[in-house]
Amino acid sequence: MRLRITHPGRLDSLRSLMESGRGDRVRRQLQAVGRAAAYFGGGFLLLSTASTVAVRSLRFLSDTNQRKFAMQCGACEGKGTYGCRLCRGSSTVEWSPLYDPVFVNPCICPTCDGTRVQRCLNCLGKGYA
Ligand SMILES: [Zn+2]
Ligand SMILES: [Zn+2]
Repeated sequence: MRLRITHPGRLDSLRSLMESGRGDRVRRQLQAVGRAAAYFGGGFLLLSTASTVAVRSLRFLSDTNQRKFAMQCGACEGKGTYGCRLCRGSSTVEWSPLYDPVFVNPCICPTCDGTRVQRCLNCLGKGYA
């Protein structure tokens, strides 16, 4: 019985095929690494964006919670603003440098700048303390 011996040349060609295959695999791995780097780069961007969004939503949630659980501001009844106390809602103040009734000038109220409302000083305009 004769054993069939594989031709050495054929073995060499097989080895070279394997070598080339390995090289191909290395190249593929490199490509995968590149792709992973790109992915992670994009992922990092995505992550930073996501964290920013998360921080923003957390801030929003805490703000909502504060709004929900905090006591309503008693000074402005939760509105955050109240009618200007200096001009009493007329948006101007009568002001005279000489305290002379003859030269009384109506001036735009320095507290509310003519908006007739001023930000609540108790809650700083948030509506809750
Ligand atoms: Zn207030
Ligand atoms: Zn005013």
